[in-house]
Amino acid sequence: MTGTTRGHHETPSATEIIAELERIGFRSTQRRYLIAEQVAQLGARGIDFTGEELWHMLRANYPGTGRMTVFRMLDVLIKLGIVDRLTFIDGTERYHVGYGTHHYVKCESCHKVVELDLTLQSDLLNEAAHQSGFMPLGQRIEIDGWCSDCQKEQSTRVLRRRFFLPRS
Ligand SMILES: [Zn+2]
Repeated sequence: MTGTTRGHHETPSATEIIAELERIGFRSTQRRYLIAEQVAQLGARGIDFTGEELWHMLRANYPGTGRMTVFRMLDVLIKLGIVDRLTFIDGTERYHVGYGTHHYVKCESCHKVVELDLTLQSDLLNEAAHQSGFMPLGQRIEIDGWCSDCQKEQSTRVLRRRFFLPRS
């Protein structure tokens, strides 16, 4: 990554992903370029995905793509700070692309993920880390919750249960 400050919603292009990979010693192969391109496209469209979904997308166009290759590449992209892995309470893992804040709110019902901008709070948390004698290297914040759609659905379900089910 360059020294420039990146915005909240910026996502990497395939070329940038390949450049980052080369920087840490990965040769740019066609296979890696195809993965980088697919990841960049999903990021640009704001689409989060599971590892399996990414693998299926790639395999649809390039049948020889190995599952392990895709998952290993995702691990590398996480280390590079290009992709984040969000884990839900039910065990589902979804990947989110972007040079983001690593601050998220996650819907435990539909698995929607929204990036939060907590710049000021970040300073406070770094300060708290310093007070504990730590040098903070990075922050990850994941808030578990229900999105507004799922809250509505949940209250409908609760109402339905209350009014239409026989009393026990
Ligand atoms: Zn939801």
